[in-house]
Amino acid sequence: MNILIINSGSSSIKYQLFDMPSKRVICAGAIERIGSDEAIFKYKAKDVFVEEERKIHTHKRGLEEIADMLRDTHKGVIKMADEIHAVGHRVVHGGNRFSETTLINKEVKEKISAFSTLAPLHNPANLEGIILAEEIFPKASQVAVFDTAFHQTMPKKAKKYAIPTALFTEHGIQAYGFHGTSHKYVSERALEYLNQDNPKMISIHLGNGCSMTAIKNGKSVDHSMGFAPSNGLIMGSRSGDIDHSIVFHLTEQLGYGQHAVKEMLLKKSGLLGLTGYNDLRDIQAEAKKGNADCSLALEMSAYRIKKYIGAYTAAMNGLHAILFTAGIGENSSILRKMVCQEMTYFGIELDDFKNESGSSGIREINTASSRVKILVVPTNEELEIAQQTFALCGKLGKGF
Ligand code: ADP
Repeated sequence: MNILIINSGSSSIKYQLFDMPSKRVICAGAIERIGSDEAIFKYKAKDVFVEEERKIHTHKRGLEEIADMLRDTHKGVIKMADEIHAVGHRVVHGGNRFSETTLINKEVKEKISAFSTLAPLHNPANLEGIILAEEIFPKASQVAVFDTAFHQTMPKKAKKYAIPTALFTEHGIQAYGFHGTSHKYVSERALEYLNQDNPKMISIHLGNGCSMTAIKNGKSVDHSMGFAPSNGLIMGSRSGDIDHSIVFHLTEQLGYGQHAVKEMLLKKSGLLGLTGYNDLRDIQAEAKKGNADCSLALEMSAYRIKKYIGAYTAAMNGLHAILFTAGIGENSSILRKMVCQEMTYFGIELDDFKNESGSSGIREINTASSRVKILVVPTNEELEIAQQTFALCGKLGKGF
């Protein structure tokens, strides 16, 4: 069964075509920096490797280029669209409606669209991916895997806000948690690696969006993002935690409209707001050249992560492992070092040499004497989505 996975993120589309159940990757790729004249188009299949700059201004254009490449006479891997049996989509917000992987129909699309108000940077991109995939692969089963699902296990004390209870019971205002597919995948890989009974772990997903999850007995017990994927850590263009009084001050004293506040907090803040750059590679390079704003942004990012490590260690009454994952977590030895510095009280000791030496799989980068394991765990949201899509199709008797 050929399952195409589409992970349509805020500034990127990642895709992989799997042969299931063998888990063989037939082809894979990504488009990064969507919205710029220098978007990077990547495609890899057997003996073919493409990596080039292209003008890709919208997700729609990006998906069309991916579909063209899949069917390309020389470089492609399929002849006809019908050879794709199912498409698994990453969907960020499933609200209270979706706690499980779901076959997409009209009602599901309407709900995903309705939840766009809660995830304005993501659900619209996810929905666009679904609608286009339905056009391009009309015979394939379309399946949604929700980022919010893994966090359904958070206890009420972690997910409820201290606001009138009616807002929770009647309007579903609560912390939902995000990046669940990634946190689930990396924590399961870490569980296999550690081979230890019920370790207490903190997974740190650092991409354009950043979040942390406290994981006890393999289950999410607390998480840094909340009602929408905007709370918690400093992100590419999102502020993360902020005193809500600032919102009142902006609107009541500084003449900001509601829309301007939202744009500012979601699209103009975070690393971008602090430095003018939202790509960590640029910020690291600038900091090295002496740019003080960039150095401070790195320090602030690391400091926020440290505080969450402290909070979640307290919440779980212990810590056995921290897991770094996603674009920044897997690649930025600089940020990992800043996070792990002066954390000996918590038993976290980084091995500088291991931190610098890269490899493709899961790797341990703590010193031999460190009480807490520090692991770099490459995330594979696509494989996780493929497995869940395959399982659902099997259950529904589709695609065989
Ligand atoms: P998303 O899926 O949320 O779009 P990714 O997980 O692809 O994001 O991560 C994107 C981030 O990873 C960007 O900020 C980028 O700068 C950072 N990144 C990618 N490669 C590296 C690297 N080699 N060093 C530092 N940061 C990196």
